[in-house]
This record gives sequence, C-alpha cells and structure tokens, in this order.
Amino acid sequence: MNNKMIFNGQKITGNGQAFEVINPANCTVISNCNEADHKQIEECVKAANDAFQKWKHIDDKCVRHSLEQVAKDIAEEKNDIAKIITLEQGKPLQLALLEVDLALYWIETIKNYDIPVDHIEDPMGKKMEVHNKPLGVVASITPWNWPFVIAIWHIIPALKTKNCIINKPSEFTPLSTIKLVEIINRHFPSGVCNLILGKGEVGRALTEHPQVQKITFTGSTKTGISILNGTVGQFKKVVLELGGNDAAIILDDVNIESVAEKVFQSAFFNAGQTCACIKRLYIHEKVYDPFVSKLSELADKQKVGDGMESQTTFGPVQNEIQYLKVKNILKKAITNGAKVLNNPQKISDSGYFIFPTLVGEVNENMEILTEEQFGPILPIVKYSDVGEVIKDINRSEYGLGGSVWSSNIDKAKTIADQLECGTVWINSHADVSPLAEFGGWKTSGIGYAFGKSGLLAYTKKQAIHISN
Ligand code: NAD
Repeated sequence: MNNKMIFNGQKITGNGQAFEVINPANCTVISNCNEADHKQIEECVKAANDAFQKWKHIDDKCVRHSLEQVAKDIAEEKNDIAKIITLEQGKPLQLALLEVDLALYWIETIKNYDIPVDHIEDPMGKKMEVHNKPLGVVASITPWNWPFVIAIWHIIPALKTKNCIINKPSEFTPLSTIKLVEIINRHFPSGVCNLILGKGEVGRALTEHPQVQKITFTGSTKTGISILNGTVGQFKKVVLELGGNDAAIILDDVNIESVAEKVFQSAFFNAGQTCACIKRLYIHEKVYDPFVSKLSELADKQKVGDGMESQTTFGPVQNEIQYLKVKNILKKAITNGAKVLNNPQKISDSGYFIFPTLVGEVNENMEILTEEQFGPILPIVKYSDVGEVIKDINRSEYGLGGSVWSSNIDKAKTIADQLECGTVWINSHADVSPLAEFGGWKTSGIGYAFGKSGLLAYTKKQAIHISN
C-alpha cells in the first residue's frame, strides 16, 4: 500500500510529523505516514497552479476519455481498493465493494455531463452568452467515514470542470484516497490531481492558502466553521457538507416488516457513521411496539466483528475518539433514564466495537437525541401527534436530511414539505444521487454537492454581451 503524498505526478514522503494509520478492528498499525511540511504545501499549490494554466484549456473529449480510463482501472482493481477501505475504515468488505461501485457510478454520470453555455437574447435583440469557466486550484478536505467515495465526490467534478485539485484525506483513512489519486495520475497530466497528507493544521494551511480558489469540505460542523473563519477576506468559493441529526417519521399505516428492515439499514448503515443516515426515529404509538420488536430482532442478529471476515455484517467504529464519544453519549442517556430496547451482545474489546443499540424513553434534554451521535446507537421516540413531532424535529440546529415513511405518498409529501432540511426522502433514507442537489440547511452546510448546481459550483460565470 502506497503511503506517500502525490503531487506534480511524483510520490513524495512528507517532511512533517509521522502518524500511524490504525485498523479499527484490531487496533494494529497498518501504515506509517508523514505529514506535509509548510514548504511542501507551498510546492504542491504551486504545482497545481502551474498545471492549471494549461489544463484550463483542455478539450472536454479528453477529460471524458481520461475519466473513462480512471473508471476502467478502478473497476479492475476494485477488490484491492475495497480491502484497503476495510482495513483502514473498518466497514465489512461487502460494504467497501459497494463504496467502490458507488464511486464508479458517480464517475460514469459526471463524465457525461455537458458543461452548459447559456445563449440569451433580450427583447431588443442583443445576444448574450453565459459561460462556466474553471476556478483554478481547489482544496478538498475529506473525512473518515466514506473515504473513497467522498474523495470521488470532490475530485471528479473538479477535474470535469477543468480545475486542478489538492486533496487532503482524513489522517485516519488516507490509504484508499492515495490509491485513488495514484490511479488518476496514470491518466491525467502531472499537477492536475494532487494529494497531501496531514492532520487539521495541514488542512488549515491548505484551505487558507491565497492561491486556492475554492474549498470543498466534508466533515464536522466544528471544522466547517473553523474553515469558514479562515477564509474571511479571501473571496474563495466554499462548499461545506457538514454534520446532521436526521430524523425519520414512521406513520401508523406502514408495512411493519418491510419498513422496519429498510429503516434499520438506513440507521445503521456503516455502523451509523454516515452523515445522512437516520439518527433519531419517531414512531407512531399505534405501530410502536411491533416496529421496535422487529428492529430489535434485526439488531440482535448482527454479526459484529472484523470487516475482513466473511460472516461480519457490522464493523467497528472507525477510531478511538469516536468510539469513546459514542459510548459516553449512550452512558449519559442511560444515567438520565433512557432504556436499551434490544439485547446488545458483549463483544470483543480488541477493536472499537459497539453492538447496535436501540434506545427508548429519550427526551429533548438528552444529547443522544439532540446531537449527532455518529455511531451505532439509535434513539427512538413514541409519538401520537405528528404536528408536534415536526416542531420538535425542526428545532434542531442541524438540517441535513429527514424522511417520512407511509403507504400514503400524498400524506407523506405534506409532512416532507414541512421538514427544514436539504433532502427529504419518502420511504427511504440516505440514498443520495449524483443527479440531485445535496446540501445541508442551518449548521449542516453551505452550498451544494451533486446535481447541476453541485457541478457548476466548481465554475465561475462569464457573461459575454455581443453587439453588432
Ligand atoms: P472532521 O471535521 O473532524 O475532519 C474532517 C477533515 O477535516 C479531516 O481531513 C481533518 O483532518 C480535516 N481538518 C480538521 N481540522 C481542520 C481545519 N482546521 N482546517 C482544515 N481541515 C481540517 O470530521 P470527521 O470526524 O472526519 O468526519 C465526521 C463528520 O463528517 C460528521 O460530522 C459527519 O456528519 C460529517 N460528514 C458530513 C457529510 C455531508 O455530506 N454532509 C458527509 C460525510 C461526513
């Protein structure tokens, strides 16, 4: 596994501090990396900026062709990539394979977009054209939960729109992104797609660099605020995809068996470490008991363990900080009167394992309901009045996603319309698409990823007014 940075087409060892990459399933070191020092960050930005002077004129056909080659290599090396993801992130191998498939679907979709030129004629007959031009050097900062596909979400639209990019992956999961950037560099000119390694301070130096024209960040709200503060006075474009505390509302007319299964998957996907997975569940009192009973049955049959083992359905929490945070939130909720609704099994403490846990009798004073727990614990609330539930949900400082589950689509749509968040799903949750805008409201983010707006967020407009 390559553990080096890649810039200007070269593999480079960082001159900064060393750090270890840990397998969360057994706490062993799988790789030693080195952070970039200040001089290397400068060199990397210069390389990207120099490459941009030529790359911005590239023909779209060449970009499509190069993206096709990247997709071909990723497909051929899918098994190796998935193994790296599982080793560094912890998710079961099947889920890591799905992450690579999702990445391929994203490349395929974005590759075929046409960057539009709008032709306009005003009532007096004057003609105008509005072009979408690349921005320059893009800084991309990615988190540890979906390291491969989130890097794809940042890098592919940037390349498609003829920008040059520098990614800094999470220090917890850099290896699959290094593999990705290595593949991209086989098919794109040197300096177009780069990667530097490091922790928060390297991310800060990169995002605050005056030659960086755009920041695309996916991570916590706390870091998002810090990045935004660092851009004051710099006029950079910033897209922040941040934390969430997504609610799901189960109406009284659902098919309990099938809906409970889908809700379970949407809440515990990737051991609950997905920005837009269900993080609080509101169930109508008429169906509460059988619904919780089905969810408990599903939780209790999970095989929690090392993602490399074929019988594992549920991996560890990715790192020690997150593991302790999730355990602490659960402990505090129980101390304050919350009740565990299923029968979590005792599991090995050789890794950061937490058995999927359903928690009832929770209230608005508990962190487990109001904060993003980002782990395999799900607070559940019994309700009778959906109007009150909507008010409770909307009181959250987060506004990433939400969902309504019902066999009556019109009724579900009326409720969906009242939820204050960027994406609402009806009868599903967390199934994002490259074709629809995705962005958080309130403290869940600024700007959009995906869809036409997400792609054009990597461009600036130039209006050309043509008179005879
Ligand atoms: P994090 O904010 O701790 O770290 C994310 C990245 O930011 C890492 O690469 C880190 O090194 C870097 N970083 C830290 N401090 C920095 C600074 N001052 N300047 C620049 N970069 C800095 O987040 P995390 O713990 O890796 O990821 C989990 C969080 O990400 C959760 O809150 C989750 O909801 C969120 N997330 C959001 C989305 C979304 O699309 N909205 C998707 C995935 C994850």
